[in-house]
Amino acid sequence: MTENSFTLTVFGGGLAGCEAAWQAANRGLKVRLLEMRPGKTTAAHTTGNLAELVCSNSLGSALQDRASGLLKEELKRMNSLLVSAAEKSSVPAGNALAVDRMMFSQEVERALEQHANIRIFRQEAQSIPETGPVIVATGPLTSSRLSAAIQALTGEENLFFFDAIAPIVTLDSINFEIAYKASRYGRGESEAGDYINCPFTKEEYFSFVDALRSAERKELQQFETGIDQGVTAGKGNFFEGCLPVEILAGRDPNALAFGPMRPVGLIDPRSGKRPFAVLQLRQDNLAGNLYNLVGFQTNLLYKEQERIFRMIPGLENAQFVRFGQMHRNTYISAPGLINRNLQLIRRPQAFFAGQLSGVEGYMGNIATGLAAGINAAAFIHGKPFFEFPSETMLGALLTYISHADPRHFQPMKANFGILPPLENPPRSKQERAKQYAIRSLNSLDSSLPDEMRPSL
Ligand SMILES: Cc1cc2nc3c(=O)[nH]c(=O)nc-3n(C[C@H](O)[C@H](O)[C@H](O)COP(=O)(O)OP(=O)(O)OC[C@H]3O[C@@H](n4cnc5c(N)ncnc54)[C@H](O)[C@@H]3O)c2cc1C
Repeated sequence: MTENSFTLTVFGGGLAGCEAAWQAANRGLKVRLLEMRPGKTTAAHTTGNLAELVCSNSLGSALQDRASGLLKEELKRMNSLLVSAAEKSSVPAGNALAVDRMMFSQEVERALEQHANIRIFRQEAQSIPETGPVIVATGPLTSSRLSAAIQALTGEENLFFFDAIAPIVTLDSINFEIAYKASRYGRGESEAGDYINCPFTKEEYFSFVDALRSAERKELQQFETGIDQGVTAGKGNFFEGCLPVEILAGRDPNALAFGPMRPVGLIDPRSGKRPFAVLQLRQDNLAGNLYNLVGFQTNLLYKEQERIFRMIPGLENAQFVRFGQMHRNTYISAPGLINRNLQLIRRPQAFFAGQLSGVEGYMGNIATGLAAGINAAAFIHGKPFFEFPSETMLGALLTYISHADPRHFQPMKANFGILPPLENPPRSKQERAKQYAIRSLNSLDSSLPDEMRPSL
């Protein structure tokens, strides 16, 4: 292939970029894949391999009635290179799909190198071309120069460098014998109040703060705290503005009661009084079945979060769909910036995929890579986009990142809470998960055109 024959450029040979390149090349595009390693590396990668798994070697559950297992099955039915490579390089891990990471990378690299429509270049992408289709999939540790270029294109306030993620719980696990709906001073949009409030007595508050102050924390690595040069810290992307609750509590035991847990304007309807402190929960998805703990970004160990946040009155039985965490993570504020086809709205020939596009977890990254590759091919061939059904996990992720509330956007991984509700949901959680999976796979099977299925 000569320089002029390429019809698509993919930035980043990680999970999303490799899947995207493969999908696009299978649809006849001539793909140039740029990967900056090994010449220039990130603080988490240790090899020059494509599709390097930077941490765990597990791609999550292989069971279809688990969120990441369902996503895997969907991707398999859409001929995913990375899921197939994972199966070929799997190691025993119970119900999870874990891999030999070197073998996994080799499988992916070999398939891409041998593909007649793909050429791999080991060089850093430094800017986003004004013309010519591109998929940007440079991940959570995107190089500083490209981060600056993305920031220039999306706006300083729309590129984040740290995840300060607050935990998310399911609505049906909140105890409404204690918790109540209200907005501060009744100023919310809905009559009942936009927030769910968990009221603390003075004693409850100080035992909670004591537990927070003495809880075990996860250590932050250098790359997790270091911000690259050449980019500016914008909205919400620096520590002082989003301190972990345990740090706030450690500075002063009263800090939370005067900060994220201040009770003013939040009278408890049962006592008719203002509680000593209040933890607020804010709706996290359109369906309204997930709520995040407002201002509760944290870096505690997951087991500590489960133990301590269940001390919150009303959250004794909380089911966590995501725990809080803090780490270096470059991602765009996707809602409003990209559409459901993963195109940058103001520059439709630029597609975003992987962690940079606001999804999380190995499977979510592979999935958006697959969607970006398929969509870029449709765009370049002038064909209609394939509508990933909204009942599928991939479809729901695409809807979430393009339609969530941009004011509070945080990356999302596969979970059943983002799927449209079932018509007649069974009471048992396990049964519900099964029905979600059946509905998703039926919907995918009935809408997939033949050319998107793996050849036997
Ligand atoms: C330290 C860390 C640990 C994680 N652990 C897990 C985990 O255990 N489980 C899990 O599910 N998720 C984990 N994640 C989250 C996420 O799933 C992974 O980071 C995943 O690899 C992201 O996929 P991606 O394709 O978006 O980016 P990556 O897989 O990181 O791929 C991006 C690629 O782009 C390259 N690149 C960057 N800048 C440029 C440039 N300018 N030009 C060319 N190439 C460039 C990088 O070298 C890299 O190869 C972790 C993230 C981090 C940061």
